[in-house]
Amino acid sequence: RLSSRMMNDDFYVYGDQNVQVPAHLNFGKFILDRLRLKKDEIALELGETREKLTYKEFTQYAVNMSAALTKLGVGPGDIVAVGSEKRNEFVPTVLAIVFTGATYTPYDLKSGRAVLKHKISITQPKYFICSSFFWQTYSDILLSFDCIEKFITLDDGVDSVISIRTLVTNDVDINKFEPMQVQGQVDIAFILYSSGTTGMPKGVQLTHLNCILNSLPDDFSDESLQTAFLFGEWYHNYDTFMTYKFLALGRKIVYVNEAEPQTFLKSVQDCGVNIAFIVPSFVCYLSKAMEAEKYDLDSLKIIYSRSSPLHNKTIQRVKTRFPKLKNILQGYGMTEAGELTSESWGTKGCKAGSVGMASPGITLKVADPETRKTLGPNQTGEICLRGPVFMKGYIGVPPSKYLDEQGFFKTGDLGYYDDDKYFFIVERLKEILVYDGYKVAPLELETILQLHPGVREAGVVGKPAGVFGEEPTAFVVKQPGVEVTEKELIDYVATEVPPYMQLRGGVKFIQEMPRNPRGKLMRQHLREMLN
Ligand code: AMP
Repeated sequence: RLSSRMMNDDFYVYGDQNVQVPAHLNFGKFILDRLRLKKDEIALELGETREKLTYKEFTQYAVNMSAALTKLGVGPGDIVAVGSEKRNEFVPTVLAIVFTGATYTPYDLKSGRAVLKHKISITQPKYFICSSFFWQTYSDILLSFDCIEKFITLDDGVDSVISIRTLVTNDVDINKFEPMQVQGQVDIAFILYSSGTTGMPKGVQLTHLNCILNSLPDDFSDESLQTAFLFGEWYHNYDTFMTYKFLALGRKIVYVNEAEPQTFLKSVQDCGVNIAFIVPSFVCYLSKAMEAEKYDLDSLKIIYSRSSPLHNKTIQRVKTRFPKLKNILQGYGMTEAGELTSESWGTKGCKAGSVGMASPGITLKVADPETRKTLGPNQTGEICLRGPVFMKGYIGVPPSKYLDEQGFFKTGDLGYYDDDKYFFIVERLKEILVYDGYKVAPLELETILQLHPGVREAGVVGKPAGVFGEEPTAFVVKQPGVEVTEKELIDYVATEVPPYMQLRGGVKFIQEMPRNPRGKLMRQHLREMLN
């Protein structure tokens, strides 16, 4: 009898299956071969200080450092951690590690002490490369882990820690250097972390092949997109792989220290950014804030948004305000699998509110969360995926916990695809509220609220209401300078939604929306605030 994994289903949705990857399946070599093609062109630029790194400097740094790490003993099977603020050395340091055949893992400065301890305890790095700032902030935690055998710093003069500069003796010939050979389908290049909005983050193991597939740049090869803006949150998969895509294309990447709307706008203006990879809250800002008009944003052709949903009306408003902008594209992705869908693939163009079509190499399906039956077009269910871009696995979690019988990963995201195979995201499965037997997507209410001129940000959760289930309740950060009352917002929402979705739990005004460093709304904090 054929296993259900060996049967196709008419309702599966396939991305392009003819993806080309180099036969060596070595992520380091894949990037290095492209870096070598460029010399004095700018690879990285820090938006606030205009500090730059050319491709030649970038590559020389990575290769020298890789040789130094090898001399220190770093090699296949080792896990090397990086803890640092954003800076030009960050990305070449990551490549230096990967070139040695070791596995790289990033620790984020802002994630806090408990999460840092948790992450170190699941990945158990043997080497730790950190900036002096990271060392000063967390050295007590780092020193408490016996697994870490050697510390190396990116800066000079940090306590008694070895500085990377002292390890580099002379320039290695870039053209003779060869990254350590790997078995790309099994060897782990990166360990990143799942976003942890529903508990402690999990270690996501990505092979060399996963990383190559995540970095294929064909969708942005358009010559007019020479300068890309990214926040530079290189502990996260979105910024990480968009960076490699643009490095593979030999383009310039602009990033900022402070991920604020003003630093973003100023960088676009000063550095001539053509494509910006941002998150929905920045697109919302562009749709409303008057000061955005003070900046010259004429160079900006494409905005790409990922991480959380973006309302079509917001997109339309930004397009009307900035007519030189050609398009706002959405993608849907996650640490475990990179981009599942994107409006940057294919030639069919965009569709209002959609997150685009299936990415190359991927197979998607929508499954009924209860019966697990595969659903057809226009039916909402849990989005599931499989394919070579999917991670090797979580550290310490058996695959049976996250794969279904057909070997698909259960994303926990609710959505559907239409007759043209464009995908739409509805909500996280776990966030759905039930009021009086009806299902309410807090996200829908949040996007509706955000369209009100008096609302800067909105978060919706359910307030326990006995037999009725949960009453939709909104937390709102007001738009500065605009007066708005609770009643006004309740009445406004009532005109936009069916009766069961009304804000029966009321509206609470707060100063700041609780978000994780990636800008994701932390609804559990709002739930705690309800009590
Ligand atoms: P992360 O692993 O941090 O990239 O988070 C992945 C999760 O972000 C997904 O499972 C979705 O819940 C959410 N997400 C990413 N992109 C989108 C999008 N375009 N619309 C809605 N949710 C998204």
